[in-house]
Amino acid sequence: MFFEKKVDLRSKRAMVDFLCGHYRYYTMNSWNRTTSYANRIKIPYLGLTREQANRAYDILDTDYWDELQFVIDDFTSEMDGNYTIGVNGRSGGYLVLYRGEYYDPGYKSQCRACGQLNYQAVSGEVGQCGRCRKTERVNLARPLRWHRATGRGIDDDLDADDLMDLSVSALRDKVELVCRFDRACDEIRSAFIDLIDNCKVVEETVMVPKTVRRIVCAAA
Ligand SMILES: [Zn+2]
Repeated sequence: MFFEKKVDLRSKRAMVDFLCGHYRYYTMNSWNRTTSYANRIKIPYLGLTREQANRAYDILDTDYWDELQFVIDDFTSEMDGNYTIGVNGRSGGYLVLYRGEYYDPGYKSQCRACGQLNYQAVSGEVGQCGRCRKTERVNLARPLRWHRATGRGIDDDLDADDLMDLSVSALRDKVELVCRFDRACDEIRSAFIDLIDNCKVVEETVMVPKTVRRIVCAAA
C-alpha cells in the first residue's frame, strides 16, 4: 500500500478527514479550476530506489503506458463506466479520478478491409469505403459503445462542514470510491516498477526511417 490508506468507516470524522486531506488535482486546466481526487506520480514521489529512478527516466520516452492501461480499463469497467482514471498535468505527473460515461460515437458502418468507420449507413448490402475505395463497407450490427472521461470535478464544491452533513452511508460510498481509486494507483505503480525491474529499452530503426524506443519485457 503506497497510495491506499486504511480509513475507519465507522467514524464520520475519520472519513471526512480522509476526503479533505486527500491530494487533489485539476481535471482539465488550472484556469478551469475544477478538481478531483488525485495522486502524484512524478518519479521523485514514487518511492523508488535511486537505481530504479534512473531506469524509470529511461522508460519514460517509450510506449510504456500500453503496459499499464489494463489497470485503468479494469477500474473503469468495475465502476460501470461511471468513473475512470486519467493522466493530467504537464508531462503527465498526476493520476486523476474522473467521472466517465459510455456513449455511442454515432458511426453507422465500417470497412471490412481497412477498418475505417463511417457516419453514413450503407443502403444496400455493401458500400464503397471512403478511405481505401474498396467495396467493403457494411453496416454495424449494433451501435458502438465507447467510453470517455468528463471534465466535471468531484467533491470540489464540498468543504469539511458539507461532508459532515452527509449521512454515514453517503460518506462511506465516497470513501470507498476514493480508496478503490488509490488501490488502482498502487496497481499502476506496481506495474510500472515491474517494467523498471524486468524490462529494458531497445532502440529500433523502423522503415520511416526513424529511431523509436520500445520497451521489451522478459516473457511472463
Ligand atoms: Zn476501407
